[in-house]
Amino acid sequence: NSGGMKVREFKKSSKLNNVLYDVRGPVVDEAARMEEMGTHVLKLNIGNPAPFGFRTPDEVIYDMSRQLSDCEGYSASAGLFSARKAIMQYAQLKHLPNVTMSDIYTGNGVSELINLTMSALLDTGDEILIPSPDYPLWTACATLAGGKPVHYICDEQSDWYPDIEDMRKKINDRTKAIVIINPNNPTGALYPKEVLQQIVDLAREHQLIIFSDEIYDRLVMDGKEHVSIASLAPDLFCVTFSGLSKSHMIAGFRIGWMILSGNKNIARDYIEGIKMLSNMRLCSNVPAQSIVQTALGGHQSVNDYIVPGGRIYEQREYVYKALTDIPGISAVKPQAAFYMFPKIDTKKFNIVNDEKFALDLLRDKKILIVQGSGFNWHQPDHFRVVYLPRIEVLKEAVGKIGEFLQYYRQ
Ligand code: PLP
Repeated sequence: NSGGMKVREFKKSSKLNNVLYDVRGPVVDEAARMEEMGTHVLKLNIGNPAPFGFRTPDEVIYDMSRQLSDCEGYSASAGLFSARKAIMQYAQLKHLPNVTMSDIYTGNGVSELINLTMSALLDTGDEILIPSPDYPLWTACATLAGGKPVHYICDEQSDWYPDIEDMRKKINDRTKAIVIINPNNPTGALYPKEVLQQIVDLAREHQLIIFSDEIYDRLVMDGKEHVSIASLAPDLFCVTFSGLSKSHMIAGFRIGWMILSGNKNIARDYIEGIKMLSNMRLCSNVPAQSIVQTALGGHQSVNDYIVPGGRIYEQREYVYKALTDIPGISAVKPQAAFYMFPKIDTKKFNIVNDEKFALDLLRDKKILIVQGSGFNWHQPDHFRVVYLPRIEVLKEAVGKIGEFLQYYRQ
């Protein structure tokens, strides 16, 4: 109270009331606090390759610096011609049907475009099917847009593939779209064509839009091939997302894109909305757009990491074996990206609150993981590890997780 005047307090918008984004939530805040106090924290929590010694290909840095002085102004709002042309060629390689230059939009990472597409689509109460577990930005953006995220189960017993029957059960008159994340974060699953075909059939039957987040499509291991779901759905309206944050280790430069494909006629009005929001944000980071052609057209140095002997491959082998050797932990071996989503035997450890589990592990062993509930997984029995750190570091981390679990009871 200042001199009798009523002090006004400012609250956040109620639009944020049900928004969750725990990949950078309270456990991470606690880790930051511990670091400020001088404690070293082993971070297995965020998919950011550069700090773990994955460097951007020289050619990308060189070409960006060469073009920097040409990138001072705004670009066209959908993006530079050269970037969109390269993305269109990429779309052709992935057999995306009916894609022209005007169907391609660059963004400040895929993140911006997830937000944009959800805002442009969803009215209050509109439903959208989103995987559980998910990359939580999807749920957060759908909620923020006023929509209702409805989670379908990905089935750990079936290599974490989407449970088609569960999807089917959750479709109703208000359902507008299905989101898939393929390859998946947090599970590392890669969906085979047969599974994608079933999703397409369902979307066709119920006339749904398909959103496919494919940011890890160039990080696929074991000689497997990534199939874009949009390539199987020329008669449906699909939006496919990808970007360079992970494949080119430039998460900080902020460059991603989305490609509209298939039956655009049925989405004419929605596409107008997308264009409007794209115009309103003026354009995405232009220096980062300037190297899309270099990045997609040139040598794919990421390929060296995902084959036997390569860092990502070997780190996966290590972390999968080491973690599943711990009594009470099991996991499906990831096939893509750099995440694993192990299961904890909650009966053995009496775990009822997985955020508390993550906090206890952090405080006791100085290891930061993200609890399963951070990915809209509704049981307290999973956590995500990011296996970007080198094997020596993973070894230390897994050793400590093993020690921690030996005596842990909630
Ligand atoms: N989609 C998925 C599945 C992700 O894992 C991430 C980042 O971790 C993103 C989108 C966002 O990527 P960016 O905004 O850097 O393109």
